[in-house]
Amino acid sequence: MTYLVNDPKDFPAEALVGMVAANPDYLIQVHGGVVRATEAPKGEVSIVVGGGSGHYPAFAGWVGPGMAHGAVCGNIFASPSASQAESVVRAAENGGGTILLFGNYAGDCLHFGEAAETLRKEGIDTRIVTITDDIASNTPDQHLDRRGIAGDFFVVKVACAAAAAGKNIDEVERLTRKANDATRTLGVAFTGCTLPGAPEPLFTVPEGTYGLGLGIHGEPGIASHEMGKAEDIAALLVDRVMAEEPERGKNGYNGRVAVLLNGLGATKYEELFVLYSTVDRLLRERGVTIVKPVVDEQVTSLDMAGVSLSLMFMDDELEELFLAPGACPAYTQGNVTLGQRREVTETETSVAISEGSPASREQAATALNAFKLIESLLREKEAELGKLDTIAGDGDHGQGMVLGATAATKEAERVIAEGAGLATTFDLAGQAWAEGAGGTSGMLWGKAISSLAQAASDTDAITKNDLARGLAHAAGVFESVGGAHVGDKTMVDATNPFALTLTRALDGGSPLAMAWEQAVVAGEEGAESTKNFAAKKGRARTHGEKSVGHADPGAVSFTMVTRALITFFSEL
Ligand code: ADP
Ligand code: MG
Repeated sequence: MTYLVNDPKDFPAEALVGMVAANPDYLIQVHGGVVRATEAPKGEVSIVVGGGSGHYPAFAGWVGPGMAHGAVCGNIFASPSASQAESVVRAAENGGGTILLFGNYAGDCLHFGEAAETLRKEGIDTRIVTITDDIASNTPDQHLDRRGIAGDFFVVKVACAAAAAGKNIDEVERLTRKANDATRTLGVAFTGCTLPGAPEPLFTVPEGTYGLGLGIHGEPGIASHEMGKAEDIAALLVDRVMAEEPERGKNGYNGRVAVLLNGLGATKYEELFVLYSTVDRLLRERGVTIVKPVVDEQVTSLDMAGVSLSLMFMDDELEELFLAPGACPAYTQGNVTLGQRREVTETETSVAISEGSPASREQAATALNAFKLIESLLREKEAELGKLDTIAGDGDHGQGMVLGATAATKEAERVIAEGAGLATTFDLAGQAWAEGAGGTSGMLWGKAISSLAQAASDTDAITKNDLARGLAHAAGVFESVGGAHVGDKTMVDATNPFALTLTRALDGGSPLAMAWEQAVVAGEEGAESTKNFAAKKGRARTHGEKSVGHADPGAVSFTMVTRALITFFSEL
């Protein structure tokens, strides 16, 4: 339960404003997140971390001298957008290139990936390293496909120390990957967590049990265990994490480990210390040497009660970087001088809107009506979609779709008032959707809508046929950009048959309204079919089996939107 809320949708933005106000020595707010308040040496590699909000201190609380140069801050549990990441990187850059460091979630990979491409074109050497410490999320041989949780802290600490040591970007990247390879985490949850303003938690943990292998976004655990003593939980965590200890005496590893016992948000420090007393003993009994333990909250999950244990199996190089000085709102190591205050110039690029022709502006106004219709539909379906996303995902799909549609409508209104034609309206409304929603689906919906600009124009009115072809192409964007295919249990199971049916019907000479309706039915059949199998892509993959019997949320929302548009197209 979150008690201190104004408008729930403003919660992450307001929390960030307060965090910056409370930490003026460390943080400056920029579009999309925060950057370090003080200067870094010219030529230093920048480390920009990020992800959704709701994990304090991750990620903005790790920004400071010797620590990260910037943090991109998305909505609660939702990845930030590409443009937010670009903006933070521009403000954090010191001329040495940037490493984008985040926790290997589909939405983050898509948005940060796109940002990196844009930034490289601008001449900023931008690299991506994903953190994959959670042993519950995949098998040891698939370590690099796991998701990132509290072990983020170690990987970020090492990356930032390598940058602060003046190493070049190749070296910093190598060391960051090495830290990730050496880090393992396992967590347990005693309660679920509740999105600010939501009446009930994303999931519940049955009385007398705890969930093993939880995610940090309210993703449920992989197994339920009977509640035991703190000692039993300590033993289980130590056993499982130590099962992946590398061989001692090889590759410079001699049993020296960094330890993070991390509270997930609603677990008291005293409880953490009780647990740590056993963790400490058990690790010593196994002959490892604990180097500067951290018993603290570093990666939380709103108000979830639970803990995780992270170990980084270190050689000399990693240990030196782990122990290097650094200071940020959440952590201090050694002596750090704050340095000169940083001047940040505007980081958001604004696009000048070219005036559309009267005919094109009229069509833009019709498109705005479609966005309004989609927005009101999604507001109505928000809770239903959110609930569906809690089964195997993180519960934010309804919220994300509403935020995206609202942002798109608002942007369409703004640009139309400034005289934009149809192509510009589609392009900018799509970008606004991606930015407003974040998350995997936000990126894909944004791209699909922006792609409609290619079929439209700002000078001429678009023909019905061009619009129809543009829509069929846009429906294909979900697959081409998202990289998922039919059978992976994503929205592509709906978008792909939708796109194929629409194209086929148009090829056969059907008018748009009729072709659209056939495509909607094909999409619905595809969405329905997702009940029969487990997820292979996206966040739901980790809990794949849980999702059998339930349709994929992204596929369902796609069919809701396309069905609602039937009346719209029949009136065109
Ligand atoms: P997130 O998973 O980042 O929380 P959302 O909850 O908004 O994002 O959207 C979840 C939906 O995204 C899933 O139900 C699925 O349909 C879709 N999805 C996930 N990964 C992919 C992918 N690689 N390609 C296409 N769609 C995907
Ligand atoms: Mg989700």
